[in-house]
Amino acid sequence: MTVRIGLGGIWQETNTFAVEPTTLADFRRYQFFEGPELVASLRGTGTELGGAIDAARQRSAYPVGLFFGAALPSGMVRARAFESMLRRLAALTRARLPLDGLVLSLHGAMVVDGHPDPEAEIVTTLRAVVGDIPIAATLDYHANVGATLPEVTDILVGYRTYPHVDMAERGAEAMEAVLRLLRPPWRGRRPARHLERLPLLTVPPAQEDVAEPMRSILAAAERIRAEPGVWAASALPGFAYAESGRLGFAVYLAAETHAVARARELAAHVWRERDAFSAPLAGPAEAVAEVAGARGRRPTVLVDVADNVGGGSPGDGTALLHALAQAGVAGAIAVIWDPAAVAAAHAGSADRIDLWVGGHSDPAMGPPFRASGPVRRFDSVSYLRTGSYMRGQRVEMGRVAVIETPIGAIVLTENRVVPFDDDHLRAVGLEPRGARVIVAKGAIAWKAAFAGYAARTLYVRTPGYCPAALDQLDYRSRPAPLYPLERDPAWESAVAARLTSGNRP
Ligand SMILES: [Zn+2]
Repeated sequence: MTVRIGLGGIWQETNTFAVEPTTLADFRRYQFFEGPELVASLRGTGTELGGAIDAARQRSAYPVGLFFGAALPSGMVRARAFESMLRRLAALTRARLPLDGLVLSLHGAMVVDGHPDPEAEIVTTLRAVVGDIPIAATLDYHANVGATLPEVTDILVGYRTYPHVDMAERGAEAMEAVLRLLRPPWRGRRPARHLERLPLLTVPPAQEDVAEPMRSILAAAERIRAEPGVWAASALPGFAYAESGRLGFAVYLAAETHAVARARELAAHVWRERDAFSAPLAGPAEAVAEVAGARGRRPTVLVDVADNVGGGSPGDGTALLHALAQAGVAGAIAVIWDPAAVAAAHAGSADRIDLWVGGHSDPAMGPPFRASGPVRRFDSVSYLRTGSYMRGQRVEMGRVAVIETPIGAIVLTENRVVPFDDDHLRAVGLEPRGARVIVAKGAIAWKAAFAGYAARTLYVRTPGYCPAALDQLDYRSRPAPLYPLERDPAWESAVAARLTSGNRP
């Protein structure tokens, strides 16, 4: 008899410092699938549910599309948006019963007005619908995991890469765990799970997977995963800009024995390395001066760290445009989210244009930059990702205007665009390999697009909602103490340890 595994989720990394709230329209605009359309749209893609669908098919299980909604990172999610999606997910789950298991794609750093732990709430809501069947969920590397989620799920599988290029593999792993829990001797049981939370905040530029200290932490997790009886071992650095009671680094273990000891061993490794999470940045003028004085190989990637679109910053910061202009550097490519400037550019038909761009979302992102030069206009640009990040996913850029200014090409977009692929530049006729400078509005994830051919990288201190210096943020309700905001919290006593039994209640 073919087993039926339901697939769904609600997915967002929320930046609670971002001004614009995340609405239902933001989910509809990015990823929004229900029923059979979910399976048809995501199969074969490099996404969590895509990997889960393909794994189910390979093992003769039937993937049942429920509901999946994802939004680009932005401000606090409106309660109404979350509630309506959760109602839809629960209703579609009820309509597709009987189900033998669930695989959910959850980010883990969503923050919803009035819902203190939305990911745990998704699972408990669905648990009430499906009853005693295995539920697995995938989590982003930037998940801020609370104590409830490990209890209410059978297994959690966190990404192990940053840039995140292992989503499909983790989705497949979650599916395999659910199928294994349906067979003897596991039917009706589950491994012990343990979550170890550390009073530690780290920033994205210090979390790269191939750089220390994460390289050795991920290697330690890998060694634990290779031990007999271990189902999952995740080191999740978390997302410092999603303020909630769940803020901080977490270590998760699912194992048949010694889950607590193994989790604490991995957490102790993280804690020993707490001073190694540093991110040295250059000022904009200093970074651009280095580009101006450099010869030879290109491109140089100027990393606009705080205006990280994939971390919830708007993507209209102009600091690097001004610095490039002041230094007289040409040959750059920069993407700026500016729907009003796109509309103004499309309102006329002149070959050349002259208008203010960027810096409109918040005075902190400005001042606007004067962009003058030949313009090319594009109506509703849409492309498929072909790189290592979410391969096969369709992205809508909206209308676009490309202005060839003295500093280089400024790409104005109607929708916010994340630099996780270089397809978005080729979609508007630009070749990033030949550029002298690429302005990347991100911390590490842009490497999935440009690292293969970037000759040099400079991390720049810019304005935005993802600053590398955490003391620039006005936290209001975070847990305390948290290192490094408080100098020496005691992890041994501060941790809320959780051990859950081997049997599903
Ligand atoms: Zn992430």
